[in-house]
Amino acid sequence: MTPREVLALCREREIQAIDLRFMDFPGTQKHFTVPAKILVEKSFEDGFGFDGSSMRGWKAINESDMLVVPQPETAFVDPFMTNTLVMTCNIQDPITREDYAKDPRNVARKAESYMRSTKIADVANFGPEAEFFIFDDVQFDQNEHECYYHVDSIEGQWNRGKAGSTPNAGYKIRHKEGYFPVPPADTLQEARTEMMLALMDCGVEVEAQHHEVATGGQCEIDMKYAPLLKTADNLLRYKYIVKNVAAKHGKTATFMPKPLWNDNGSGLHLHMSLWKEGKPLFAGSRYGGLSEMGMYAMGGILKHAPALFAFCCPTTNSYKRLIAGYEAPINLTYSYRNRSAAIRIPVHSPHPENKRFEFRCPDSSSNPYLAMSAVLMAMLDGIQNKIDPGHPLEKDIYDLKPDELAELPAVPESLEQALQALRNDHQFLLVGDVFTEDVIDTWIWYKSSQEVAALRERPHPYEFAMYYDI
Ligand code: GLN
Ligand code: MG
Ligand code: MG
Ligand code: MG
Repeated sequence: MTPREVLALCREREIQAIDLRFMDFPGTQKHFTVPAKILVEKSFEDGFGFDGSSMRGWKAINESDMLVVPQPETAFVDPFMTNTLVMTCNIQDPITREDYAKDPRNVARKAESYMRSTKIADVANFGPEAEFFIFDDVQFDQNEHECYYHVDSIEGQWNRGKAGSTPNAGYKIRHKEGYFPVPPADTLQEARTEMMLALMDCGVEVEAQHHEVATGGQCEIDMKYAPLLKTADNLLRYKYIVKNVAAKHGKTATFMPKPLWNDNGSGLHLHMSLWKEGKPLFAGSRYGGLSEMGMYAMGGILKHAPALFAFCCPTTNSYKRLIAGYEAPINLTYSYRNRSAAIRIPVHSPHPENKRFEFRCPDSSSNPYLAMSAVLMAMLDGIQNKIDPGHPLEKDIYDLKPDELAELPAVPESLEQALQALRNDHQFLLVGDVFTEDVIDTWIWYKSSQEVAALRERPHPYEFAMYYDI
């Protein structure tokens, strides 16, 4: 859509409010709204002012004025609000009119243009699988241990039944059997279909929706792959729609990677392929039907994986997901079909244009602009430096003997370890000025001080279970 087409759409749909959105630095969507009548063609150049000092990790108070510049190609009519049109914005400095280095969307735009400048590829396609949970409206109570470690399985439900009462275990999804039961066991079908249709109405192409493995209401809606920037923009729309449909049903949706102990967590698997002049570059005759370029791209990801985790699994909670037994990767290996490896090459793709590999480590607590840009930079580094991905892994990692397992490189165990890896390995992100030193430093500072330390300093509810009676 061009600015003119956006203005025509506003007239046609009787739009009265323009909702201006952007992604903050850690990865939460922000917005403010202007009356539709002040939106003119010039607004798409001039932008609208706001206070950047109130944004986590952004400007200091003495230099806080910033601009949001609406991007017409991201426009959609808000399905939840009255006569409202939404646009995602770029962030600019009002004086120099430069794009702001710490705007995540700017990082993604620079990653795409750097890729084109290398002549390796002109499009990087990303197909995301963003899993999430739908819960009844959660009331957080410091003394409520249950939400930290309850198991919403049949056993859990029976165990939690009060003495003398007999909870009804009928039509309840059994532990780890959430993949594909039909209603009434799947109580979220109606909500997910509503989400799917709202996504399609808002211009996001959807491939499928289904209940996921975890019992406590885990869901997945798969959207069609698209170039990096568009996929990140789509993921903003996705989270907005998922959360708002859930709210309409009196529920909450969370993309937290591991909300329930002892059940599957939620990943953001990324299916990726590079393209040039309309031709797919990852199809070939090497392992799993990949091209040599595809092998090197995997090599780049595996080499830089520990540092990538700082962006792809960027919360303290992310590391509670990356443990054995829950279909989440625990080792930095690759494999044809094997879902226990960090990278899987799907088998159901005989056509070259479908050839891709799936990086299974990321989760949706990441900022998608930064996470996908970092992954693209690692792939380009792998291709430029012909990084060998090593041998594939054919066995189920969860079944390996301890000595076999010890030989495989493991995923970081904590956010702290991932941030340390990023400190030691980020040259590949600075190439082409895609990530700046300031972006890397602010990220490490923010995550270390505001999240790692913040959690470490607080008594955890489970510590009460372990230690109160000591
Ligand atoms: N939920 C799993 C994860 O954490 C993935 C399950 C699946 O899609 N096969 O990555
Ligand atoms: Mg899936
Ligand atoms: Mg899934
Ligand atoms: Mg997957």
